[in-house]
Amino acid sequence: MENIIKKIYSTYAESTGIGKVADYIAPLANISPSKYAISICTIEGQKINIGDYNEPFSIQSISKVFTLSMLAPLVGEEIWESVGKEPSGSAFNSLVQLEYEKGIPRNPFINAGALVITDKLAEKFPNLDASLLQYVRELAGEQNIHFNTDVANDEYATGERNKALAHMMKSFGNFKGKVSKVFRHYCNHCSIEMTTQQLAQAFTFLANRGINPLNGKTVISPRDAKRINSIMLTCGFYDESGDFAYRVGLPGKSGVGGGIVAIIPGKLAIAVWSPELNTHGNSCRGISTLADFTTELGISVF
Ligand code: GLN
Repeated sequence: MENIIKKIYSTYAESTGIGKVADYIAPLANISPSKYAISICTIEGQKINIGDYNEPFSIQSISKVFTLSMLAPLVGEEIWESVGKEPSGSAFNSLVQLEYEKGIPRNPFINAGALVITDKLAEKFPNLDASLLQYVRELAGEQNIHFNTDVANDEYATGERNKALAHMMKSFGNFKGKVSKVFRHYCNHCSIEMTTQQLAQAFTFLANRGINPLNGKTVISPRDAKRINSIMLTCGFYDESGDFAYRVGLPGKSGVGGGIVAIIPGKLAIAVWSPELNTHGNSCRGISTLADFTTELGISVF
């Protein structure tokens, strides 16, 4: 596997200039487009790392998997009355569908759906920011994981569309908290910075039927691990989810910081970072890397 990773890395090492680094959150615009990292962590603890794998970057929407996993054990089936589990076929921050569908977001990985999840977490955790950081640190087995306040502040100040999504849901009765308070939590969790190495480790519970292989603790039930992987497969890449499933064949989740994490159930988690994004907001080189990885390795979920 190490040779495959080295080969893929050298294939794409010079591949920049294809996409565009996110700039709607100002501090993200300063990230060098040439950053490139791949990290694998198996459930047995084998690690493979190459490139800028020690450099923390903004995980953005990858955090939506952490928030959903954190909420899942605390709620019952009624959660699916507030948020769906169907691919949206729309951009991650689309407003149109939300109005048609009476304030019920299609799934927990588009922004509206993640805002609903954060709203529900805020009801349950009086100190949500600290609780979430603790949750992520335990999954990664490292304390050195933080919010980036500049990134969070910028998104909080400029994220009018996300606030509109929350207000729209509130008008339909599908949002309990104060929009400004919940949106602040949302900006904070999106601003978490992690390395690919930390991300791959932190996602191994999803390859391991919900158990954190670092300490043997149950994070979520096997049923919820199955469900969250399924939602990642069908909804993890917004209106490019079908294409990602076709090319890569794994559950995964992207963020506009250029990160992608994907899971081979029963085996490993793989994290890739490359900041240039395609028009769907997903990392161009990240997707190519993962497509080659499953093709060369001959293993996917199919
Ligand atoms: N914080 C970003 C936003 O809400 C996350 C989007 C993403 O990573 N796709 O716009």
